[in-house]
Amino acid sequence: MFETLTSRFSGALSTLRSRGKISEKDIEVAITEIRQALLEADVAQSVVESFTSKVQLQALEILPTLQAGSNQAEAIYSVVNKELTEILGGGARRIRFAKKPPTVIMLAGLQGAGKTTLAAKLAKFYKDQGETPLLVASDLQRPNAVNQLQVVGQSVGVPVFAPEPGNGVGNPVNVARDGVQFAISKLHSMVIVDTAGRLGVDQELMNEAIAIREAVKPDEILFVVDAMIGQDAVKTAQAFQEGVGFDGVVITKLDGDARGGSALSIAALTGRPIMFASVGEKISDFDIFYPDRMASRILGMGDVATLAEQAKKAFDGDTAKKLEDKFASGEDFTLDDFLEQLEAMSKMGSMGKLLSMLPGAGQMKKQIENFDESEITRTKAIVQSMTPLERRDLKVLNGSRRARIATGSGRKVSDVNALVDKFTAAQKMMKQMRNGGSMPGMPPMPAGMRPPTGAASKGAPQSHQKKKSKSGNPAKRALENGSIS
Ligand code: GDP
Repeated sequence: MFETLTSRFSGALSTLRSRGKISEKDIEVAITEIRQALLEADVAQSVVESFTSKVQLQALEILPTLQAGSNQAEAIYSVVNKELTEILGGGARRIRFAKKPPTVIMLAGLQGAGKTTLAAKLAKFYKDQGETPLLVASDLQRPNAVNQLQVVGQSVGVPVFAPEPGNGVGNPVNVARDGVQFAISKLHSMVIVDTAGRLGVDQELMNEAIAIREAVKPDEILFVVDAMIGQDAVKTAQAFQEGVGFDGVVITKLDGDARGGSALSIAALTGRPIMFASVGEKISDFDIFYPDRMASRILGMGDVATLAEQAKKAFDGDTAKKLEDKFASGEDFTLDDFLEQLEAMSKMGSMGKLLSMLPGAGQMKKQIENFDESEITRTKAIVQSMTPLERRDLKVLNGSRRARIATGSGRKVSDVNALVDKFTAAQKMMKQMRNGGSMPGMPPMPAGMRPPTGAASKGAPQSHQKKKSKSGNPAKRALENGSIS
């Protein structure tokens, strides 16, 4: 997502960084580069002009206050960041809930924009927050749309109101109206109405959407748009705004290699906020749209806030606490712990997506693209083929056990050996860190920041005491003696 844009922005930043003292000319050059990059990313011309002139004005304003050698480039970039956040809609807005439930959300957009998929994503999102949504199948046009909604609804455990078979049969306005009545009678707190799109904007489509709007009086109309259609996304948005009107935008397919300009133009041109973003076909590939996080990502500064949130969600409280306690008490990190971590990582989504949220991900594009997602599954298979004793105590892994594990996991003995070696090295490194050492290439942790060890650590006094004596576990003992490396 936005790769080209990100690398152009990063390029302009490093040129600025390389200057001893930034001059007006340097700013002009950077702005020209940024303008070019935005236009190539399909951002609407008027948005580009307004954006670059605001950035230029502010950058020139702060220029005299910047000292050579200070973070001049960063100061200029915080101006770019601020303005980019602005054109992406400023502060994120949330759904307005109806004073008297149910809250009715109507989805509108072209066929193939991702409305049906989004209906399930939204339903799951709000169900997880304690709402009791009902999905309503008012797309009676697109072949298989009703059935698709039923399937995705079932996959997220949300009921679907679908009295008509669709495929051109049934009255979508009646279905929408009856769906809301049904939700009221069954005390659902939210109704999400999936409507039909067309291949292009036409009057028939608008009339149907208007009739549904009038029948259900939605609290929110969300316009769903595919980021991959480039400049057309803006034209479609404007047509829907004039036709049925909408309150917020959902951008889908931001995972594609779209140049992404639509996302940067829609909020500015329609005056409606982008509220959610969809980044893949899976139900979990969806999140609230945060303009500031997106701006930071476009500028190559990563999206660490989202990454941290996802990690928090994936590692349930117990797992995180258990690992923390283990670390603090001086116990060894075992392959069982490792397996739990691998499973939590799989829950967080693809490694490619996770890595792309790191600052500087733009420069790692090749490595991220080449990351072999199935490596995690293969590693898991090796660990799962081990007995509980083997996972705790790698020392027992003699040749025949290794051969059995290789057969069980469908890998080669050399793969098992490689995992054991890497894991042992990681265990050793964690031990060094706990003892206040440093990771290779990183400075030692200051005393105040070291993880608590031994008697001083909460809830782990005995284990520290135990650590001082020789472990009964041969692998542990070998590690303590430093005889395994
Ligand atoms: P609708 O006609 O608006 O209801 O569109 P659908 O929900 O059927 O989506 C059209 C296609 O786009 C389906 O194949 C979806 O799986 C796919 N799709 C939806 N959202 C995304 C997304 O965010 N990323 C990607 N890559 N595909 C998506």
